[in-house]
Amino acid sequence: APFRPVDVHELLDSTLLMLGRKIGDGVTVVKDYDHDLPEVPVYAAELNQVWTNLIDNAVDAMGGAGTLTVRTARENDRLLVEIRDTGPGIPAEIKGRIFEPFFTTKPVGSGTGLGLDISWRIVVNKHHGDLSVESVPGDTRFRVRIPLTAQEA
Ligand code: ADP
Ligand code: MG
Repeated sequence: APFRPVDVHELLDSTLLMLGRKIGDGVTVVKDYDHDLPEVPVYAAELNQVWTNLIDNAVDAMGGAGTLTVRTARENDRLLVEIRDTGPGIPAEIKGRIFEPFFTTKPVGSGTGLGLDISWRIVVNKHHGDLSVESVPGDTRFRVRIPLTAQEA
């Protein structure tokens, strides 16, 4: 897949559309987009996997009811994409393990435990960005930061 400048909001919108059935009627989706963002050079198909997993996790956490907020912003020379949910949050005792491959708290068959591991590799290794999380009950935010200037892997 090519590394090329894209409109990040188009990527996010297409992911939200694709996950529409899973998101369902009980989840309110709020798009808080910074429309002044420039195009960002990325591997689009791979970044879509990142949004897909973060949104999938957010919806799972909320158990079908809550608010999903997708926010974008420019932070100096980086793009910020924040996926926020109003679910119960990530217990302190597992916070250090969620990025490990095969770590999951979901029932057998419903989670592979690979989503955050793959997301980490796509964001950090392929885009020279970073992926972090802040979580308290009712407010969990995964933040993806990607350089705005080309840094092909
Ligand atoms: P999977 O979704 O297959 O379980 P992931 O790597 O995507 O694997 O996530 C690992 C674990 O991190 C999840 O099983 C869950 O315990 C925790 N987690 C991830 N996102 C959230 C979230 N938004 N709220 C609460 N827990 C989360
Ligand atoms: Mg997942």
